[in-house]
Amino acid sequence: MDEITIKNLEVFCNHGVYKEENVLGQKFLVDAVLFLSTRKAGRSDALGDSVSYGDVCRLITAEMKKQNDQLLERVAERLAAKILHTFSMVKRVKITVKKPWAPVMMHLDHASVTIERGWHQVFVGVGSNMGDRQAYLAMAEKRLAQEPDVRDLRAASVIETEPYGYLDQDKFLNTVFAFETLYEPEELLHLLQEIEKEAHRERKIHWGPRTLDLDLLLFDDLVTDDPRLVLPHPELHKRLFVLEPLCELNPYGVHPLYRKRFLELKEALIQISQII
Ligand code: AMP
Repeated sequence: MDEITIKNLEVFCNHGVYKEENVLGQKFLVDAVLFLSTRKAGRSDALGDSVSYGDVCRLITAEMKKQNDQLLERVAERLAAKILHTFSMVKRVKITVKKPWAPVMMHLDHASVTIERGWHQVFVGVGSNMGDRQAYLAMAEKRLAQEPDVRDLRAASVIETEPYGYLDQDKFLNTVFAFETLYEPEELLHLLQEIEKEAHRERKIHWGPRTLDLDLLLFDDLVTDDPRLVLPHPELHKRLFVLEPLCELNPYGVHPLYRKRFLELKEALIQISQII
């Protein structure tokens, strides 16, 4: 990705742990690297095809003066979120907030915090086989679409499928949601579990009936082995009720571990089920 860089933007404001800092204020310096494609602007020479670094500087200044935070971490976090929400072309941003007059009673050039944040592409598997199944799916979609740190939510067609694992239960409705998010993986898993709880989900039988099941299938190309969050979802490639809606949204996407397109994984699964 291309980069637009702002270096040492000076802003006078009042962040800090000490009361004196909040009252007197001091100088802060901000670096921002915006990751985006500048190709279109490079060909057209039109500012409308890019992000104006003047606008970014004004946005950073206004955001820094808006409220007093104790920590540079918090200031950096707010700046990253504000830039990512305001300029949709920016996919990722790296922010450094420096305090050259940090009150540590020693000589130093500056103290700083650097963070990198961005929009992540995620896919969530959705299922319901209890109560008003359609309403639970619709509730999950609405709830996620309303989250400020979620954008461009798309839902695949809903399919009705036979139960999986524990067979003595009603049929499922299944779909997949695709969206972009600023949440980190564990935060998103927590949000999905909160939405399951709001749907009165109770964990009684493993793979048993449920009002709403939300599985994090893919988070960019991330591969993890933490049992609390396994990515890609370990059952993704074994379940036709996941691969079918996933292929509707992203047929040519590639499984980050098996390096096969979802369409190929789906077709392989169909072939195996025909042999059995
Ligand atoms: P279930 O609700 O039956 O799908 O299982 C939820 C449990 O699986 C929770 O304890 C999660 O922490 C864990 N888990 C591990 N990886 C994932 C994932 N990719 N998506 C959802 N839950 C996961």
